[in-house]
Amino acid sequence: MVNYESVIGLEVHMQINTKSKVFCECSTRFGSEPNLNTCIICTSQPGAIPILNKKAVEAVIKTGLALSFNINKESIFTRKQYFYPDSPKNYQITQSDQPLCSRGKLSIIVKGKEKIINITRLHLEEDTGKLVHKVGSRKLNYSLLDLNRAGVGLMELVTEPELRSPEEAFEFLNELKNIVEYLETSECSMEEGKMRCDVNVSMRHVEQQEYGTKVEIKNINSLSGVRNAITYEIERQKEILDSGGKLIQETRLWEAEKKITKSMRSKEGALDYRYFPEPDLVPFALTNSFIEGLRKEIPEFPRARKMRFIKDYGLTEYAASYLASTKVIADYYEKALSYMEDKKASSELLANWIFTELNAKLNVSKIFISKSPVSCQNLAKLVSLILDGTISRKIAKTVFDEMFEKSSDPEKIIKEKGFTQISDKSVIAKICEEVIYENSKAVSEFKSGKKKAIGAIVGLAMKKSKGQANPQLVNKILLEKLKT
Ligand code: ADP
Ligand code: ZN
Ligand code: MG
Repeated sequence: MVNYESVIGLEVHMQINTKSKVFCECSTRFGSEPNLNTCIICTSQPGAIPILNKKAVEAVIKTGLALSFNINKESIFTRKQYFYPDSPKNYQITQSDQPLCSRGKLSIIVKGKEKIINITRLHLEEDTGKLVHKVGSRKLNYSLLDLNRAGVGLMELVTEPELRSPEEAFEFLNELKNIVEYLETSECSMEEGKMRCDVNVSMRHVEQQEYGTKVEIKNINSLSGVRNAITYEIERQKEILDSGGKLIQETRLWEAEKKITKSMRSKEGALDYRYFPEPDLVPFALTNSFIEGLRKEIPEFPRARKMRFIKDYGLTEYAASYLASTKVIADYYEKALSYMEDKKASSELLANWIFTELNAKLNVSKIFISKSPVSCQNLAKLVSLILDGTISRKIAKTVFDEMFEKSSDPEKIIKEKGFTQISDKSVIAKICEEVIYENSKAVSEFKSGKKKAIGAIVGLAMKKSKGQANPQLVNKILLEKLKT
């Protein structure tokens, strides 16, 4: 048996999160009427001159700084000539020799170990339009062209071939997505095509120095798809090599339903795109103060935030990593926490409510946390009411159900429904006496040394109080009464 190693490199396109396109003022809105967001520039009318969107440049540089790139102060745009049925000018404005950012890196953690992946480049370019293929009557097929997406700014990132397994590729993309979402320079939603990934895979013997023939896989639209496509491709290439065959350099498509890759076209050497400097856009020079200003806007990243959650709020590794990995969740948590008087005492319970009850309900109703019917302030109130003993944890769940349904204030619900926790000692003592009287069997078991029987007796007392008695007090008073 030959021992193979897989070699993987990624090419990632992310749609830049700006209101307008990269070379004109048209809107980038997703889901508008076809061809509504177009003008003479993005429909490529002869003589129309592109004007660079400063915000798009800022987004690329911010992303570059976050990924430790060298920012090239002098940068140019390039025309990439090609027949693009979805872009009437038949060339793409992109960057080739002098991209905005070169040589970045990203740290990933796989199986508990850190690995640094070098990133070749990050550059700015424009997206194409979209072809919609239709089957007409009498088998007359036709295609419709929607130019709403043409000219939308993209950043393209290309990694070095340094990833060695499907898990590493998955983690790279996951970490990249987390960071870019934190930066808010792209929404990175793969479902909406705002993050697209091409995967390059080759195999070599473990002792071999040079790389093997690579295959490029396109059309993958989810993170798990990336992992599955690479896993499939590794097995396919191994089989060919083991049976003495040779791989050809080609582009393959990922068929998500069948979970296979299928040949699309062979790629013998580089296509000749006849790159040349874009004459309609001047080379640009970035100043230090422009770059440094952007560096100041870079927020704290998921991993650092997770460490801070552990250190400052005493959260477990699991809770901190769940909350910190998504910016909206982390923001929700910290905003809710800002309403708590004693942050240290409430941090854990608040975290628990977010990743159990709230998370479960949001998932079932398919609502994003940013649109949560339970506001940060109301969840903070609920947790305070549990902590100060106004309501029991059990009642809190009932209150929470109503908070979620009606977006209402927990204090109001508790008042209306008379849910307040019973902390009056004389009332609890009376309940305890009744329970002791009615359950002589459990009581004698407890008295004869079966300490566990207390649990059942507490449960019965809680039930008698309809869940409203303060459980700590019930426990304490019962023990006192049983001792006498
Ligand atoms: P191309 O000219 O075919 O586009 P590039 O050199 O630009 O190739 O690399 C494209 C991507 O392929 C990069 O992410 C790179 O890391 C990756 N890559 C290059 N060679 C290999 C290889 N032998 N195996 C796997 N990935 C590779
Ligand atoms: Zn336009
Ligand atoms: Mg390339």
